[in-house]
Amino acid sequence: MYCLLCFYFLAGSGFVIHDENDDYTIILNDRLGPEVNRKTLGHELEHIKRRDIYANEAANYIEMERHRL
Ligand SMILES: [Zn+2]
Repeated sequence: MYCLLCFYFLAGSGFVIHDENDDYTIILNDRLGPEVNRKTLGHELEHIKRRDIYANEAANYIEMERHRL
């Protein structure tokens, strides 16, 4: 697993990528500061743990559920 702190110019605090080598890369927005990055990292790790990338539910539904935790 990789975690990159980088300039993220799209809306949002971060996201996760799963590649063909079964590696995960979490991209965090360095403009948002360490506190937000730490929370986003936890959020993205939860997506990985729950295998949300491959869930059948709509992305908006999954995000709503994860932000309720
Ligand atoms: Zn999310």
